[in-house]
Amino acid sequence: MTVETKVERGLFDEVMVPCYNPMEFIPVKGQGSRVWDQQGNEYIDFAGGIAVSCLGHCHPAMVNALTEQGNKLWHLSNVMTNEPALRLAKKLTEVSFAEKVFFANSGAEANEAALKLARRYAADVHGPEKSEIIAFKQGFHGRTFFTVTVGGQAAYSDGFGPKPGDVTHLPYNDVAALQAHMSDRTCAVMMEPLQGEGGIVSPTPEFVQAVRELCDKHNALLIFDEVQTGNGRTGHFYAYQGIGVTPDILSTAKSLGGGFPIGAMLTTSKLAEHMKVGVHGSTYGGNPLACAVAEAVVDVVSKPETLAGVKEREALFREGLAKINDKYNLFEEIRGKGLLLGAALNDEWQGRARDVLVACGKQGLMLLVAGANVVRMTPSLIITKEEIEEGFARLDKAIATLV
Ligand SMILES: *Cc1c(COP(=O)(O)O)cnc(C)c1O
Repeated sequence: MTVETKVERGLFDEVMVPCYNPMEFIPVKGQGSRVWDQQGNEYIDFAGGIAVSCLGHCHPAMVNALTEQGNKLWHLSNVMTNEPALRLAKKLTEVSFAEKVFFANSGAEANEAALKLARRYAADVHGPEKSEIIAFKQGFHGRTFFTVTVGGQAAYSDGFGPKPGDVTHLPYNDVAALQAHMSDRTCAVMMEPLQGEGGIVSPTPEFVQAVRELCDKHNALLIFDEVQTGNGRTGHFYAYQGIGVTPDILSTAKSLGGGFPIGAMLTTSKLAEHMKVGVHGSTYGGNPLACAVAEAVVDVVSKPETLAGVKEREALFREGLAKINDKYNLFEEIRGKGLLLGAALNDEWQGRARDVLVACGKQGLMLLVAGANVVRMTPSLIITKEEIEEGFARLDKAIATLV
């Protein structure tokens, strides 16, 4: 890089593949739920890196785990196993239904493993005709070709040539549609136990019950994509624990590493058996550095006081949003659970979620959207009361510039 190269937003357009449209400011430092940009402007972080930074920025437990492991051993590959991966896998089996763990580097990869396991299990146990994957409209499962195909948004899956086959999309929360469609050919049903990217949509209790019952009836596997809902986000370690339905396979990523890339597929011994040596793999998956950080994250997040704290903070966020709405009347409803919240814009504000996001950036608040009509918040699970109050003061100022 030449000495004159200015590292600023313009350089993005010059050297980066234009598949993102990042904000104008460039953050350089974070602490807790505060972030500072190149000019020293401060931001309150209600975005949490899209449900990733569950312990905020630079949490001492994570920094310690990273530096300690960073001075010991970074990488081996799966030709050897390693202590952090074994400890983390053991802990994940303790906080969930799972008996077996496969490590990947991202949510999409964890889902890819989940789908391949489901297909392999069905092929081994039931035969080749049992290959149908049922998923839901507006669902999101990642950006690999299999996972965009299973995801329910044509904008992400079309235009890349022939897709992996035998994937059916049904409307979410529609018991009758599922009942009518599902058959003994169904290999697996994949769903988010609360749709995130699709606009923060909770499943009805009847729907999740019916999905489980129909899977049992047709010998199909139930895959919960908990990439966004997992690791404390809804006030339970995994969201399934709050809805009374246990999946056969669960994918987890995002908050699992708290900011260090890692993903995992969790399942039972009975299913895991079908991923024999050589059937699936990853060079980086289960890397000691990632697993050491994730272990520290799981230790903090699984504490009962952390999970109880999520519910307390949810109440503060709902209060804050209600006050903003009393003043400006822009939300139709507040959706979601725990610290995975979506404020759906009303008729007058349709299409303006991105405007809210940009206005907030200018007032020193980072948040997210989920589509054109939902303002989404996925902050740190341990964001302080002061940070929440300051964030809402800034949200108020930002909305004032839009009315
Ligand atoms: C973010 C997300 C993914 C994809 O995770 P990546 O780490 O970006 O691959 C998959 N499923 C859900 C529900 C997500 O929210």
